[in-house]
Amino acid sequence: MKDAPLRPTDAPNERAGVLLPLPLAGAYDYKLPRGVAVRRGLVVSAPLGSRQSLGVVWGKAEGAVGDNRLKEAVPLDGQPVLPAGLCDFIDWVAQYTLTPPGLVLAMALRSRQAFDAEVPRVGYMRGNGAPKRVTPPRARVLAVAADGLARQAAQLAEEANASPSVVRALIDAGALCEVELPEFPPFQSPDPDFSKPTLNTEQDLAAHLLRGGVAGHRFAVSLLDGVTGSGKTETYFEAVAEALRREKQTLILLPEIALTVQFLDRFAERFGTRPTEWHSDLSQKERRRTWRAAMNGEARVVVGARSALFLPFKALGLVIVDEEHEQAYKQEDGAIYHARDMAVVRGRIENCPVVLASATPSLETYVNATGGRYAHLKLHRRHGVAVMPDVRLIDMREARGEPGTFLSPPLREALAVTLGAGEQAMLFLNRRGYAPLTLCEACGHKMVCRQCSAWLVEHRYRKRLVCHHCGYETATPPQCPQCGEAGTLAACGPGVERVAEEFKSVFPEARLAIASSDTMHGPAETQAAIRAMSKREIDVLIGTQIVAKGHHFPQLTLVGVVDADLGGSDGDLRARERTFQLLHQVAGRAGRAEKPGLVLMQTRNPGDAVMKALASADRDAFYEQERKYREVTHAPPFGRLAAIILSGRDDDTVRAAGRALAKAAPAARGVKVWGPTPAFYSLLRGQTRERLLVQAEKYVDVQAYLRAWLNAATFAKSVRLTVDVDPVSFF
Ligand code: ADP
Ligand code: ZN
Repeated sequence: MKDAPLRPTDAPNERAGVLLPLPLAGAYDYKLPRGVAVRRGLVVSAPLGSRQSLGVVWGKAEGAVGDNRLKEAVPLDGQPVLPAGLCDFIDWVAQYTLTPPGLVLAMALRSRQAFDAEVPRVGYMRGNGAPKRVTPPRARVLAVAADGLARQAAQLAEEANASPSVVRALIDAGALCEVELPEFPPFQSPDPDFSKPTLNTEQDLAAHLLRGGVAGHRFAVSLLDGVTGSGKTETYFEAVAEALRREKQTLILLPEIALTVQFLDRFAERFGTRPTEWHSDLSQKERRRTWRAAMNGEARVVVGARSALFLPFKALGLVIVDEEHEQAYKQEDGAIYHARDMAVVRGRIENCPVVLASATPSLETYVNATGGRYAHLKLHRRHGVAVMPDVRLIDMREARGEPGTFLSPPLREALAVTLGAGEQAMLFLNRRGYAPLTLCEACGHKMVCRQCSAWLVEHRYRKRLVCHHCGYETATPPQCPQCGEAGTLAACGPGVERVAEEFKSVFPEARLAIASSDTMHGPAETQAAIRAMSKREIDVLIGTQIVAKGHHFPQLTLVGVVDADLGGSDGDLRARERTFQLLHQVAGRAGRAEKPGLVLMQTRNPGDAVMKALASADRDAFYEQERKYREVTHAPPFGRLAAIILSGRDDDTVRAAGRALAKAAPAARGVKVWGPTPAFYSLLRGQTRERLLVQAEKYVDVQAYLRAWLNAATFAKSVRLTVDVDPVSFF
């Protein structure tokens, strides 16, 4: 689109509040050029100090400053306008999370080049002229161009198997004429009827309800609650198909980019083409393309990580959050928000249905679904002949092998049987590297990070000790840095690399791969391992939580959980729920096709409620118990929490700020303020950290309370304050 000329009129300049993508308290006043009316969402270029900043008209100007004092903000070419739904969403997120609105806007403007003018490509199609001589290569090019479509020169040459000079000669002769092609080839539209599955009865009922929601175009939230392998994806694809038929856009959120490749292929099998992707690994160019396609409606289905929530959808008709319980949906830095909760908000603003899918919903969602606020669609059975796996506990107080080994005799036996039968196995341990702790056997010195109160994790393949929090790393020293003894540093406990080493020593013939969400085994290696597992090129996959989710390996019949107790004793509110979800998901990888699955969990607490629920496959017993516990303690979702984290370089200053802040906390009905206390990692990346926790009754307006409190409190400028509303991690 070319910009409409701005007509000078005698009317005065209108004044607008312009939101800049910066951490400012609110919009800044500017005047608009004559003839340009205040329109919320209008994208402008606004002078800021000595430079120009992108900005968005947010409303009328607030201040009383006269025209002559205000600087002029000029609409960009084509006068692009952000959709109203996005603007309202930005305001909502900012107010709920206590983030400056400009910072939230910055997330929505992730593609800085999105507004640059299109750079058309040059294409050629059949012209009126004719070449003097028609050689065979020339004839081939003309034959290709005979369909009347425009192509780039290189593409013509390639399709006709001719050299570029042949194409050039035809252009010179006027047999091909130049046309402008758009900068990007258009996205292919997914076909709702490309390959429709035959749904089973339960799936069909759920799909029917979801389709109805899309057709009605009303806000409503559904929990698609189905056991692993029950066909949740297959079922919500029917809702996507309905949105496609109705020319509405769909947003599908996935918790991890690592999951998307399998997902994209699967989507293509159902809809004939891949969906549009959005995540942090896209190039600037792809970002620009996708951002624009979301805004002009060409991107019909966008699959992305949490930041896709902030795309400028033209006509959003459906939001799906897959694996809705995943902690990865919580963004922990910058603007701190929970993408699942904000997806529900976006759905409400756009007035469209939201589908949350999980085999192990978050307790919040479970309570909403069982309490009737969300529709509860259940899929009880695995699709086809697959049955749920048999989960057994191995009591490690009895079944321990030799010291320094981590695979118990019963687990080794089961591995031998599985491998002997030509089936696949998976070993799960949620710990990266070789060993989580390196300890001096002479003096007891523990190797810790210099900048964090955290142990250094040994990565033996690389002979390095690494901090998983700040990335600090050092060569494994030959002697203890404390007492100077040589050869006394010992690895304590297992990481995936150590489990792999032990496995290899027992089963030297078996083919194995490690998948770990790690900088050492990067995403590419993880993808390769997962693909090798799918194609049956390996026998055993050893991995961290990256292998727990979503994957479908038909030949996988044995899952061994090396340490089921990990993460169960953190003492934080959600530790039990998380352990249950993770182990349930891991277990769900086993026996997803004809052959039944066996899951062995090594634990020292076989009597623990989480373990018992896993072994008896009684999921809801666990949820009911957890619900009661939260209800009694007024914990979310029966009460509200917000965390405040103070951090800074200087110990004393941070602690003093914590005390000052606690003192300034206003008394209010239904609100308790705890702390300050040192955070779990009291030192992180060289910063001292103190935490305060606000615990409030359900009826309390926590945001208002926090605002009143934080606006009045004063402390040293060098201390950084972060607010985390609805915290999910307590580090
Ligand atoms: P979930 O998302 O609940 O874990 P999936 O949707 O991944 O389950 O389904 C598990 C497997 O069963 C997949 O391979 C899927 O293609 C297959 N499947 C599920 N439902 C059907 C169906 N109605 N027809 C054919 N295959 C199905
Ligand atoms: Zn560190």
